[in-house]
Amino acid sequence: MGGTAIRLHGLSKTFGRTEAVIGVDLEIADGEFFSMLGPSGSGKTTVLRMIAGFEAPDSGIVELAGRDVTRLAPFERDVHTVFQDYALFPHMTAEQNVAYALKIRRVPRHERLHRAREALAQVRLDGLGARRPSQLSGGQRQRVALARALVGRPRVLLLDEPLGALDLKLREQMQVELKAIQRDVGITFVFVTHDQEEALTMSDRIAVFRQGRIEQTGTPAEIYERPATPFVAGFVGISNLLAGDAAERVVGSSGTYSIRPEKIRMLEESAAPDGPEHSTATGTVAEVFYLGDATRFLVDLDAGGSLTVLQQNLETSSEDVAACRGARVRLLWHDHHTFRVPEAQRPQPGGDTVRTTPHAPVR
Ligand code: ATP
Repeated sequence: MGGTAIRLHGLSKTFGRTEAVIGVDLEIADGEFFSMLGPSGSGKTTVLRMIAGFEAPDSGIVELAGRDVTRLAPFERDVHTVFQDYALFPHMTAEQNVAYALKIRRVPRHERLHRAREALAQVRLDGLGARRPSQLSGGQRQRVALARALVGRPRVLLLDEPLGALDLKLREQMQVELKAIQRDVGITFVFVTHDQEEALTMSDRIAVFRQGRIEQTGTPAEIYERPATPFVAGFVGISNLLAGDAAERVVGSSGTYSIRPEKIRMLEESAAPDGPEHSTATGTVAEVFYLGDATRFLVDLDAGGSLTVLQQNLETSSEDVAACRGARVRLLWHDHHTFRVPEAQRPQPGGDTVRTTPHAPVR
């Protein structure tokens, strides 16, 4: 622990006329759970493939544990990649699938079996080693793939949307387990995902990608609480941006501001402010999204623009919240939850838009 597992310097890759990766610099520490997060086509997988050695960069350097591996073949690098489709051999048992990774490295048979069992235990599959992939659930197959990756004891594990094929419930369960397994084995994990909640849940740090570049690198809290650009504010969580005239009227100065939905309290318009918050805005509830444990309200502000408010359903039912549509309300929040978002550093070509209103039930 403590050293640098991966260092990328000025990494670029073009496919035909597509600039897939543009000047990416990154350092990932030993033992980190690091996620590369971004929309489809933002270059995450290409970066991962360049770390693995499946893709050669046009320019730039890939270092693993301080060694320049840019021109080395995948098998000469101390990394292992886990893909979304698992790529297990259907005719082999789970144990044989895991042991196979050692067979091609000419590890003696006795040791192979011992280490395969150990790896299956690490992913909590003890006792299921004799089953073939078709006799395992999706989550169990995913674990076999993980055990196969761990058995070679790589220094770095690269995971490309490994939970993408699982249903939501299983995916959430695997997120918790994957994090626990990573903590147990202490290997550096580099995890590619387009799912912001997944990245926030599991990572020590996250790099947010956009159009081939890294927009921001930071801990989940830094990325969420202090987005470096409007794009990050919109991609990670619900953006809730106030800009232009609305910012002038509500915040009292120009610029772009972000307020996270759970930081805002909503009262009836006529209610006297009863708390210590100083920021306030009035408006009309335009949309209500009942989520079971909480409700999201989209409020059109009198000052212009709109804000999303998230409230826990402590007492309320779905009928109660539906009746709020069209209601006049007052929003309150602490000044220190109004975060000024730095303006974008470079011109924003078309291709993606910053969401100021939520479309999916993202929380
Ligand atoms: P996704 O989440 O959809 O996998 P991503 O962020 O991982 O997206 P990449 O797969 O790295 O993105 O792709 C970045 C860009 O490079 C995309 O425009 C993609 O179409 C292009 N690209 C990737 N691989 C190739 C290839 N082998 N040939 C041509 N274009 C490619």
